[in-house]
This record gives sequence, structure tokens and C-alpha cells, in this order.
Amino acid sequence: MNILVLNCGSSSVKFQIIDTSLEQIETNTDKCLARGVLERVGSHSLITLQGGDQKKIKQDAPLRDHRAAIDFILRWIISPGSNIHQIQSLSDVHAVGHRVVHGGEKFSRSVRINEEIISGVEDCIELAPLHNPANLKGISAVTELLGEAVPQVAVFDTSFHSTMPESSYLYGLPYPLYRRYKIRRYGFHGTSHRYIAYRYRREHDLKLQQVNIISLHLGNGCSACAVRKGESFDTSMGFTPLEGLVMGTRPGDIDASILDFLHHKEGLSFGEIDTMLNRRSGLLGISGLTNDMRELLEEEAENQDRRAKLAIDIFCRRVRKYIGSYFVEMAGKVDALVFTGGIGENSPVIRERISAGLESIGLNLDKRKNNKTSGGESACISKESSTLKAFVFPTNEELLIARDTVRVVENATRRW
Ligand code: AMP
Repeated sequence: MNILVLNCGSSSVKFQIIDTSLEQIETNTDKCLARGVLERVGSHSLITLQGGDQKKIKQDAPLRDHRAAIDFILRWIISPGSNIHQIQSLSDVHAVGHRVVHGGEKFSRSVRINEEIISGVEDCIELAPLHNPANLKGISAVTELLGEAVPQVAVFDTSFHSTMPESSYLYGLPYPLYRRYKIRRYGFHGTSHRYIAYRYRREHDLKLQQVNIISLHLGNGCSACAVRKGESFDTSMGFTPLEGLVMGTRPGDIDASILDFLHHKEGLSFGEIDTMLNRRSGLLGISGLTNDMRELLEEEAENQDRRAKLAIDIFCRRVRKYIGSYFVEMAGKVDALVFTGGIGENSPVIRERISAGLESIGLNLDKRKNNKTSGGESACISKESSTLKAFVFPTNEELLIARDTVRVVENATRRW
């Protein structure tokens, strides 16, 4: 089946076309036929397109909304320029899989979209006011452009974490707040952590229950996930993606009293504080320079910038802190750390700095292998003697979304 995978953000649309089927999932022979990103949707958009193994094409066009962006994608897919031989007309697009950010407590698995599902996703808007509305726009644009008959599937960022026990997901707040407003840890990056758990299982030929790892998704957004017996047992992002690790522009864990303090001291409204926490904190806030880890590493190396170094040190230390706490939570039954995301996949330096001191829990990093691994490669980066192994696996959320779409459409039950 030719599956269109859509990731609609507030002002961007990312897509892939993936050829997959139940048989291809079993044999791991699914294939990405094309991919692209449309940025600055709502004004003059920047568009990057890549058909199969061809070179990337960059262009721009005025795209006023998500519908116009998806219309653009569909027209390109069926045009000769895209070079996707197995798609000649829109009827060759067999189903669409959407990344949906928040599924609340309602959605613990991927589902076929209908009116009831749409209203369930709408109910979760208050939990993800920036993301879910964009996801819904993508869904309604596809219905308009491809018709009701083309199946659409929602794959939630939160659903992998639905297996967390109450003791992981409840905060130390008055319990009625959970009952009344469902204030709890939901966790995000679920599709990425699930993919990492799947890759680990496949590489090692394990059963689901044998996967005990700590997955570290380190990109502009960052989260750690304790995967116990193949399931999410704890994760660092919380009620929103703000909690946990230090990220590009978010602080991760902070004392909640800082909000009230700032409100009084700086006269900031809670909305302004929220913007500061989401957009001006983390690596950017500490360094005062950038949220881009590559640039911070350059500043540190070339100009010995004190705050760039500080930002990197705080970032790495927070990751170590979570690794330690998950190692203990899992009673030391952790077979591997897995690094993924833009930083995790590409930065040997950061992986080495995170790993410093982890000899105490059995990690013995192989510096040569670590230094050699970047740019989308998969590798084991720990020494033979290491009792806690370390791996780098490039994440592939789109592949899992396409596979889930096939499984849901075909009514197949296997989750992986
Ligand atoms: P993502 O959100 O997964 O695309 O990751 C974006 C982050 O990965 C940014 O902070 C980039 O600076 C970082 N990144 C990408 N390549 C490298 C690299 N070679 N070294 C360090 N950081 C990198």
C-alpha cells in the first residue's frame, strides 16, 4: 500500500510516502518513496521535496493554510517530476497516517479516524493547544481533497506511554486535580521511543518482553524513556513537553514556585512566563546565543565561550541524572542506553560527555566506535566488556506511522 504520512505542525507540514504492507512489515522491506517539508505555511512557504533517491528540490510558493499545503503535496506526488512510478493518480494513495500529538487518556493505540475520533482529538486540544488543532486541520484537508473513502489513521505521540503505572504518571499534587482535570504525566515522543524499542528488539532478535532499555531522544525537544519489558515504564516529559531534560528552548524540570516569583518580580503574566519557558529557555536561555547544539559546540571549541560550555554541561548532566534515576527505577535491569534524535544521532562529543561517570553503572564507552558514528548510522558504541551497552539508532517515526496505518486499515492486531 502507498501510505501518505503527514506531520502537521502549527506552521509546517512534513510528509513521506511509504510503500508498506503486512508482509513488508514482517520482512522489513517497506520503502520510502518520497519525502518533503513545507515550512512557513500561512505565508510564503519554503518547500523541500525529494522523490526516491533523487536530489532534494527546493522551491517556494504562497500556501495560505494546511489545506493548500496538502493540496500542493498531492499535486506534486502525482506529477512526473516527483518520479514516484507507482503513484500515477490520487487513487494510488491508499491511506493516510497522521501524527497526532496528544491523545490524552482516551487513545492508547492508533485508530482509524471517524467523527467520534475527531471529537476525541478535539477534547484533547486543551492539553495541546498548539499542536492538536494543526493535526485536525490536516485531517479535514485530507478528507476534502481525497474524499471520505480513503482511510485515515491517527498515531498518537502519547500512546506508547499509556502503559506507565500510576506511580510514574501521577504528580504529588492533590489527587482531585487528577480526577477533575486529568493533570498527570502523559509523555511525548512516544512514536520515537517505540521505534527505538522495536529497532533494539529487531537487532537483537528478542521477544517484546525482553526489551529493557533507556531510550534517549535528544533533538531540539528532548526526552528519556525507561522501556521495561518492551513497554514505557517512565518518561521525562510530563503533562506537556516542558518537563524533564534541558532542551533547545525549554528548561525541563524547574521548581514551580519560580513562576509565581517571576510573576511578582518581573510583572510577567502567566502567558508570558509560559512563552519564556517554551521559547527562550534551555540551551538558548543559558547560553544567550542559540538553541542549536552544533553551534554551541563550535562556540565552546573555537571561542571558549563560558556560557556555551555551561549550557552543554547542564544539558549533559540532566541526561545523566535521568539515566541514573531510571536505572534505579528498573532495579538495574537495563541492557542498553540508546541515543537518537538530531543530537543523539550526530554528536559523538555529547554522547561521550553524557557517558562520563556511567562506568559506575556498567557503561564502558568505545571512544573509537563512538567517534565514527554519526549522520544517520546505526552502531553499538560500547566496548565488549560493557555490562550496560550503548547504541545509536536513527529514529524513524514516519515508518511506524505508516506501519500502524496499514495494521489499522487491515485490522491486524500486532503492535510492533
Ligand atoms: P532534531 O530536533 O532531532 O532535528 O535535532 C536538532 C538538534 O540536533 C539541533 O540542536 C542540532 O544542532 C543538533 N545537531 C544536528 N547535527 C549535529 C551535530 N553534528 N552535532 C551536534 N548537534 C547536532
